[in-house]
Amino acid sequence: MSQPAKAVNSNISQLCHYINGERVAGNSGRFGDIYNPSLGVKAAEVPLASQAEVEAAIAVAQEAFPAWAATSVLARSRIMTKFVHLLYEHQHELAELVCKEHGKVIEDAMGSVLRGIEVAEFACGAPHQQKGEFSDNVARGIDIYSMRKPLGVVAGITPFNFPAMIPLWMASMAIVTGNTVVLKPSEKDPSCPLRMAELFVEAGGPPGVFNVVNGDKEAVDALLNDERIKAVSFVGSTAIAQYVYATATANGKRCQAMGGAKNHMLILPDAGLEDVANALMGAAYGSAGERCMAISVGVCVGDEVADQLIDILKPRVESLRIGPSLDTGLEMGPLVTKEHREKVMNYIQMAQDEGSRLVVDGRDFVCAGHENGYFLGGSLLDRVKPEMQSYQEEIFGPVLQIMRVGSFDEGMALATDHPYGNGTSIFTRNGAAARTFADKVEVGMVGINVPIPVPLAFHSFGGWKSSAFGDYNQYGMEGLRFYTKVKTVTARWQETGLDAEFSMPVLK
Ligand code: NAD
Repeated sequence: MSQPAKAVNSNISQLCHYINGERVAGNSGRFGDIYNPSLGVKAAEVPLASQAEVEAAIAVAQEAFPAWAATSVLARSRIMTKFVHLLYEHQHELAELVCKEHGKVIEDAMGSVLRGIEVAEFACGAPHQQKGEFSDNVARGIDIYSMRKPLGVVAGITPFNFPAMIPLWMASMAIVTGNTVVLKPSEKDPSCPLRMAELFVEAGGPPGVFNVVNGDKEAVDALLNDERIKAVSFVGSTAIAQYVYATATANGKRCQAMGGAKNHMLILPDAGLEDVANALMGAAYGSAGERCMAISVGVCVGDEVADQLIDILKPRVESLRIGPSLDTGLEMGPLVTKEHREKVMNYIQMAQDEGSRLVVDGRDFVCAGHENGYFLGGSLLDRVKPEMQSYQEEIFGPVLQIMRVGSFDEGMALATDHPYGNGTSIFTRNGAAARTFADKVEVGMVGINVPIPVPLAFHSFGGWKSSAFGDYNQYGMEGLRFYTKVKTVTARWQETGLDAEFSMPVLK
């Protein structure tokens, strides 16, 4: 692996793009800053690609497409299998890159890399999944068969919070089905996707099939407006998801655009509150709440449930084990940037100003020895009301909001009526209530006594309402469909000749 070059006169490493199997320095003259959130220092600079640089990467991917699409699906799958082996071999290295730029603690980062690898493992099944359909002898010597063809060059645009997993959701499914990829990862933590693209080539992937271009809005717009890009997969905040979806589809591209979230856990009076508290601690504060499937709202049916739950949660939130990402045995690391930390702190203030009760205030937390890191303690808010802005919007930090409702129906309505609809969960021992909830709630992914219901690789991931735009989910068979288009052939092979037919052919 070639090492990133050092910027002149500084200890700051300068990252690059990865195009045609090589690390390529940026030439736009524009750079973004990358921080080590545990230390609170600038650690690297990433080049922000110009439109021309993005177009050059698309040209490379376009050139690589015909040969890759013509490579047998078995051969593509074998390369994917080798890629999976290399990802496992380098899992710790990749997780460390996640820790250093994102701030997840190492065990959590390892888990996030693994969840990405699982999608690459699923993709190895493409010879089976990409099989078409065949109908024999539908009429006098006529057969019909359909094939799933790759689309061409496809773009992936990913958020900061899962720099290994989400690029793998997209790249694995796109590549194994015969497409070539230009990935534009988050400019906050691009080192992990850069390294993964390099590992793909090490696994025998042809140069030009998996390209990584770093950048910001200019790079995204170049991808959205280039007619050679046939499909765009986006994951990020809702406002940008809407923009990407509207622009890509207006330009005739297939698009799936996943947005933000506000995930409710409905807690019924019969739930075991120790289990609920355990589930909430991990789901609300794991990864410092920077997960689109984090539980950020606990909805208690009845004041008694809420009071008891808060009694259990309060000391646990106050004593969360928080520290620098690469230390082991921690529950939470820092937030990704100083700006994001400030944004979360403002939401805590807003929630308090709006009248919710701040049971635990994480804003004063200081991490000894890492005073400049972007740390926040966990915060716990009670008596949150539906009309509050801090409830309507996504906070994306280690903040759990508790709401009190009088009934199951009222609780379910909160999740259903909220503008976001990514994930939700119910904790109860009542099977009928759980079933009704799963059936009726207007949310895309539901957990029953499971706090973060992220579906495994052989199912698919996608929210509803403002959490996702487009008709296809990520990965699983939905991912395979997103990255392929159906061609159907009607073939006639028979000994006798053809008659002229002037009316619409019908079955005879
Ligand atoms: P973001 O929307 O700021 O950035 C996502 C991507 O869009 C990045 O690659 C970024 O460079 C690009 N981008 C940013 N501003 C842009 C603009 N004006 N025009 C064009 N492109 C632009 O999101 P983020 O802060 O990196 O990630 C956190 C968000 O992602 C949260 O809202 C979280 O809920 C969401 N998320 C959703 C899912 C899901 O599957 N629903 C998964 C993970 C994260």
